Amino acid sequence: MRYFEGYRCGACGREIPAGSAAAECPSCAGPLLAVYDLALMRRNARDPASHLAGDGPGIWRYASILPPFARRVSLGEGRTPLLDSRELGRSIGVPELFIKDESANPTGSFKARGMAAAVSRLVDLGVSRADVPSAGNAGLALAAYCAAARIACRVFIPSETPAGVAAECRLYGAEVTVVPGLLPDAARALDALVGVDRAGVVSTFREPCRVEGKKTMAFEIEEEIAPDWIVFPTGGGTGIVALWKAYGELEALGLLRRPMPRLAVVQAEGCAPLVAAWHGGLDRAAPWPDPKTIASGIRVPGSRADALILRALRESGGAAAAVSDAEIVDGVRELARARGLFASPEGAAAYAGLKALARQGTISPSSRVVVVNTAGGARYRFLLDPYER
Ligand SMILES: [Zn+2]
Repeated sequence: MRYFEGYRCGACGREIPAGSAAAECPSCAGPLLAVYDLALMRRNARDPASHLAGDGPGIWRYASILPPFARRVSLGEGRTPLLDSRELGRSIGVPELFIKDESANPTGSFKARGMAAAVSRLVDLGVSRADVPSAGNAGLALAAYCAAARIACRVFIPSETPAGVAAECRLYGAEVTVVPGLLPDAARALDALVGVDRAGVVSTFREPCRVEGKKTMAFEIEEEIAPDWIVFPTGGGTGIVALWKAYGELEALGLLRRPMPRLAVVQAEGCAPLVAAWHGGLDRAAPWPDPKTIASGIRVPGSRADALILRALRESGGAAAAVSDAEIVDGVRELARARGLFASPEGAAAYAGLKALARQGTISPSSRVVVVNTAGGARYRFLLDPYER
């Protein structure tokens, strides 16, 4: 039984039919979100939990609450470990600490979940080429999934992307364009090239299925433990919107017997548009003028889903914190030495953000907390420079 109904614009509410190739709202260019008949799913199932979690591998375990694809393009994404980090947690005043290690995904990051779903949708639609602007991990994931689907791929990366990303994308057969500047410059170069033909574009929130794939992170976490907080490094914001959407769906299915976890957004001090908006009590975030941080994955001056992200924080009773590059580097070292985890700068930022929120008393010592390490650290060679001898 399938419960997928189609898509709805996250900004204006316009509904889009299930088979549509629309990548964004035709009325307002807002982000499209997948809609399911959750009431029917709840009625049909004596035990909705058994409907939610099937026996597919990885993210496909939750296929009943994903769009149906004729062909799943998969590299083994999902089912990443939740690392019991309580010993480390005790040292930072958060004794119930767990780390969801997304570096265990194909191509080493949480982007695999979203790209598995997005590329599966493109294959269903008969699209023969995918395009993305990326600061690194999204491009790598798209290149690999396009190779698996045997469709063409073009990745637009800003010149400040970690060394090696372009070569690795090309290894998968992708065409890479290096654009001087930052992520928005790469996005503009892509937009200029594709013009109105956006069928294969899978930019953040300009395509509806990346959120759906990433949503499975919440289902996996919730099957293992019931966290009070989830702390997430945030650039474009697909991850945080995905977590919020997933928990809303669990709630509608009657599977959440407590309020949804409080969501915390962590950004870098040198690029913190959402943190500034949150602390200013705003509904929208102003673009950050001069983004600077070593954490390239969150060096994103503005999100198309700023309103949705801020709503997710409000509705979950969440929080936001900004951390310095020095705190990020310290976080990488601490996670490596105290937990054996080589985290990405973004994952380390989330960990540093947790420490800050715990120090402020926003996250109490009795809270059960999940920090998401979105990717591995090995591609960020500069993190190893101090250890070269
Ligand atoms: Zn709209």
